[in-house]
Amino acid sequence: MGSVVLSLDAELAWGFHDHEKLPEDRVETARESWLRLLDMFDDFEVPATWAVVGHLLLDSCDGEHAGHPTHDGWFDRDPGTWEGRDETWYGSKLIDAIEAADADHEVGSHTFSHVEMGHTTREVASAEIRECVELAEERGLSVDSVVFPRNYVGHRDVLAAYGVKSYRGNRPRRWYDRGPLGSATKLLGWPTGAVSPPLVTPAEDEYGLVNIPASLYLFSFEGRFRSAAERVGEDPIVRMAKRGIDRASTRNGVFHMWLHPNNLTEERDFQRLEAILEHVAEVRETTPLTVETMESIATDIKDDEPLPREPIGPR
Ligand SMILES: [Zn+2]
Repeated sequence: MGSVVLSLDAELAWGFHDHEKLPEDRVETARESWLRLLDMFDDFEVPATWAVVGHLLLDSCDGEHAGHPTHDGWFDRDPGTWEGRDETWYGSKLIDAIEAADADHEVGSHTFSHVEMGHTTREVASAEIRECVELAEERGLSVDSVVFPRNYVGHRDVLAAYGVKSYRGNRPRRWYDRGPLGSATKLLGWPTGAVSPPLVTPAEDEYGLVNIPASLYLFSFEGRFRSAAERVGEDPIVRMAKRGIDRASTRNGVFHMWLHPNNLTEERDFQRLEAILEHVAEVRETTPLTVETMESIATDIKDDEPLPREPIGPR
């Protein structure tokens, strides 16, 4: 029967370091939101895949990253200090918190420094993943799952060479994504709940990686549309998520929700997550629905077949 997967793009300030301005509201509360999310996942016994920016596994650095083959200026915002001083650039204690949680979370990778893998060289891609694999190994972890920054899928062969098992692919396109009719339906239909988010079918790609496409971004419906919809009834994202969870409890497929810890900046954002997790826990109680991590989905599909591992360049 079906399952639910939750993946998080966990990046603190790294998600925005190449933007002109850091969005202060999202960055400043990101650590607190990260820890509150862990508590909520424990309350409902829901494990998740935390795709963490590799730099956050560090508790300090020199700010130079001299061996990294990226272009000049890429690490300009990196303060080159330590976690107690600049807590949005280092996250060693937050990784400890994931590992200490009761829920059996997976620590995956979101690249080392939030590089758009669809728009970079093979050399940079290799350095990014190699760094993550090495930092994970120092903690006794392995990098089994990758979430691509800004969802730009690229250099999948490099992931495969470093022993990664799965990645989050893009949500399948549907008729309402296209054309003027689609746009109109999205505007009119989403608030009233006419559109269901898809269940996805994970599948092995040509490199032996399991693609687990996204079903629903839990903060895809913000601003004035969210406020307007909330005035007339239940949070529309909660309604869509519940529909996806219910469908996954009655048929095969994966309902794959995703978010960033830094999406949660207001109390209503936590209420959204709580309502969704509560529903997951309720439905799991009374149906064959399971909650999986990306790694456990990939392992099931690959049937424990060992992966070839051919590192690229010096390790
Ligand atoms: Zn650094």
